Amino acid sequence: MAKINIDRILCKKCGICAFVCPKQVFKFNELEGPQVVNPDDCIYCDMCIMMCPDMAIDISNEIKEGKPNK
Ligand code: SF4
Ligand code: SF4
Repeated sequence: MAKINIDRILCKKCGICAFVCPKQVFKFNELEGPQVVNPDDCIYCDMCIMMCPDMAIDISNEIKEGKPNK
């Protein structure tokens, strides 16, 4: 499963990550900013990481890191 971490200090709640994600991994509202609601659906396209203007998103893939995918 993807571990999706949003740095709440860096994030300015622009909503771009939720807009560009093809799998609706994020839910977004202006008050709370992006919330990770479907991490299992992440396909590691890196769109959110590339498009985030504040480099606030970090995604680790347990398979890539050689750990079992639980
Ligand atoms: S890597 Fe792609 S699928 Fe995963 S959360 Fe980001 S935009 Fe969505
Ligand atoms: S794109 Fe980056 S700065 Fe904008 S809401 Fe998403 S995590 Fe926050």
